[in-house]
Amino acid sequence: MKALFVSSECAPFVKTGGLADVIGALPRALENHEIKVRILLPAYRELTDILKTGKQVLKINDLFGGPASVVSVEAEGLQLLLLDACHLYDREGSIYQDKKGQDWPDNHLRFGALSFVGAKLAAEGIDGWQPDVVNAHDWQAGLVPAYLSQMKKPVPPCVFTIHNIAFQGRFDSKLRVELGLEEKLFSQEGIEYFGDISFLKAGIALSDKITTVSPTYASELLSPEFGMGLEGLLAYRQKDLVGILNGVDLEVWNPETDPYIDANYSMRALAGKKINRATIESRFGLKPDKDRPIFCVVSRLTTQKGLDLLLECVGDLVEQGGRLALLGSGEKWLEDGFVEAARQYQGSVGVIIGYDEPLSHLMQAGCDAILIPSRFEPCGLTQLYGLRYGTLPVVARTGGLADTIIDANDAALAANCATGIQFYPVTRDALTRAIFKACDFFKDKKLWQAMMRRAMRQPVSWDRSAGLYAKIYQELSAETKSKSPTK
Ligand code: ADP
Repeated sequence: MKALFVSSECAPFVKTGGLADVIGALPRALENHEIKVRILLPAYRELTDILKTGKQVLKINDLFGGPASVVSVEAEGLQLLLLDACHLYDREGSIYQDKKGQDWPDNHLRFGALSFVGAKLAAEGIDGWQPDVVNAHDWQAGLVPAYLSQMKKPVPPCVFTIHNIAFQGRFDSKLRVELGLEEKLFSQEGIEYFGDISFLKAGIALSDKITTVSPTYASELLSPEFGMGLEGLLAYRQKDLVGILNGVDLEVWNPETDPYIDANYSMRALAGKKINRATIESRFGLKPDKDRPIFCVVSRLTTQKGLDLLLECVGDLVEQGGRLALLGSGEKWLEDGFVEAARQYQGSVGVIIGYDEPLSHLMQAGCDAILIPSRFEPCGLTQLYGLRYGTLPVVARTGGLADTIIDANDAALAANCATGIQFYPVTRDALTRAIFKACDFFKDKKLWQAMMRRAMRQPVSWDRSAGLYAKIYQELSAETKSKSPTK
């Protein structure tokens, strides 16, 4: 069976967050379920070298204001279809924003074009290849089913995956004509959202099936607190909404082989972790101390991630004997706040502002616990990496964090099944109590090591979840074929 993924990110080529990790890993896992995936991805400037090695398979004379082509290339074991359109993607700055941090003013065209070409490839095929199903990811690919609905021929079914409902791709309704979307689509059942166009809403309203990245997030999305205005539509489409947990690419995130860490280690031979710990102490300017746990944060610095709460209790963390190593970038006031905390608690708090993939691996390998106090978290990947690297997750009980970590409550401790610490509600006090609990557990080396080993044993691979995606694709494809007029 053949599937087309349409996505704005894909690790290791271009990444701002978890979406990229999923798109880089799930296709490989789907191969074990007899699904061959090709990924349509914009040819951003970062991909120039890879682009040169590919073969042009489609030419488009005018794609929203300039010429474009689709280039097929295999890289890192993935089959990529790169959408080469210089006027849209070949620029300095980040993939969504200019160098000043402003969204590109033509993002509607940049990702409208991605969606349009995704629909075109799905409907017409390419180079003798035609997908049986298309899976569009997040708002950037939300218009795929809208364009599919305009095709004058039978089209494959479309799955839409919500990785984060907070990013909705909302634009002025006047842009509909420029995007080549028919007027009849501008309705409650289509792309219209409070008088604007929403790419994400279009994906939810017009796809055959909607998935999101954890079962708990799937049910949270039905409430106003988490649905962000789309809870009504999602409730209406509830029978087509499924939560499937993300997994870990075990080849990329493996402490036994990870090339980014100083010393490899395993569940049976943990000694290497100490060596990585020493490197973290020196990189983050922390005073070496084997008895003080190092908590880490590897994250976008936003209020979604609850890092304002952490900022408020850094003093408590240090007072309790903890240390903090933080890597992240995002909202300026949070960046400044943590830099100030590092100055105030020199030797106990170290902060690196920026995005650094190798360092993110080293932190998972060298720290003792990872803090994730998110207000909402569709799935979260850093807690899964924490499990795999024996860096115990201390997490808010929400979304995928609730689904993946077994809280060290009395029952779990008695049954020897705890893998981390959960807290709720997501408040400064509850977070502080969770940090205190972790500091307390850390003093009991036997208990801590047992939890580490258990965490490292957790099944976090993609295999089970890939099977669930495969089942959805197969069922949809069978349904579509049974309805097709040629049958
Ligand atoms: P989200 O997608 O909401 O940002 P996830 O936990 O799903 O959160 O995925 C975040 C991904 O981005 C993980 O792979 C994490 O290691 C990585 N990441 C986040 N911030 C940084 C950073 N500053 N440097 C390196 N990697 C980062």
